[in-house]
Amino acid sequence: MRAARFHGRGDIRIDQIEEPVCGEGEVKIRPAFVGICGSDLHEYLGGPIVIPTKPHALTGGQLPVTLGHEFSGTIEEVGQGVTGLKVGDRVAVRPNLSDGDCPSCVFGRPNCCRKLGFIGFSSNAGGLSDHVAVPAKHAIPLPEGFPLDLAALVEPLTVAWHAVDRSPVETAQTAIVVGGGPIGLAVVQVLKARGVKNIIVAEVSDQRREYAQILGATHVFNPITDDVVAKVRALTNDAGADISFECSGAQAGFDTAMNGIRVRGTTTIVSLWEKKPVIDAFDVVSYEKHVIGAAICEDGDFEAVIEAIAAGKINPRPMITSKIRMEDVEEKGFKALVNEKDKHVKILIDIEA
Ligand SMILES: [Zn+2]
Repeated sequence: MRAARFHGRGDIRIDQIEEPVCGEGEVKIRPAFVGICGSDLHEYLGGPIVIPTKPHALTGGQLPVTLGHEFSGTIEEVGQGVTGLKVGDRVAVRPNLSDGDCPSCVFGRPNCCRKLGFIGFSSNAGGLSDHVAVPAKHAIPLPEGFPLDLAALVEPLTVAWHAVDRSPVETAQTAIVVGGGPIGLAVVQVLKARGVKNIIVAEVSDQRREYAQILGATHVFNPITDDVVAKVRALTNDAGADISFECSGAQAGFDTAMNGIRVRGTTTIVSLWEKKPVIDAFDVVSYEKHVIGAAICEDGDFEAVIEAIAAGKINPRPMITSKIRMEDVEEKGFKALVNEKDKHVKILIDIEA
């Protein structure tokens, strides 16, 4: 079968590998649509960073790994001992794997597992292939008629769902989202679905600010030409936003997220950082601000996002900016995301095409 595998920096190949066996407690899936994630791009440009070069502590996976951790598909085989799923079921796959017995897992936070692994990233099974076997509990059934292309967007939306859950969203009227990449845009949609009145996006790209407006932002600003903090103050009786989400991974963005919130406001960091940002601890003390992190998603978030899309509370279709074939994953996928960054939000690989 075909598998798009990461061999190293700038080196993704369509390899012919053996079809996986559906083990006990697993389901074998025919992938339908697969998204390319910012983390995939990081590995392509500068990796291997997280992708293991020696056997992963939990999965045993190592280079070359099959990519694809944002995906949907149809169950084609059900392993021994699996209940509640059958051949023909359409599913979205929750990729994060945990050991279940480290202190984080025992604490009830498998998303923060010390041996955290990912299907399609740090295991040797991924969605960018003709067949993939995954633990049955990671295959989340879709309701009747739920489009398989939208199902490939569920994973990034669960990251946003969890980030919004971590923040005190129930009491928030005004939120700032710093960075209009796929995760920032996912946060915008979840904030809208959760009833936040003012959703302010700070993003330098014109095209991405347009996407933000289509997906639910009520105000968009360009941090190059606008004083975003002053604009937020003007919209909030000089108080500042209740909550902010750092989705840019840049110092200037982090500063905007922190300076834009009110006294006792909360900044949730969703972006992944290579360098350590500087934090104005005096400001945090003086205005009793909260800074929290949000990692991946929690159990139940896949179901919640699927329900929100099915109910029409989230319509992520505008996020899909192109659909390509597996053979074109490097040229029209990874390279397009590097060279035409502003044009794209999510590129999906159509496995059947
Ligand atoms: Zn663990």
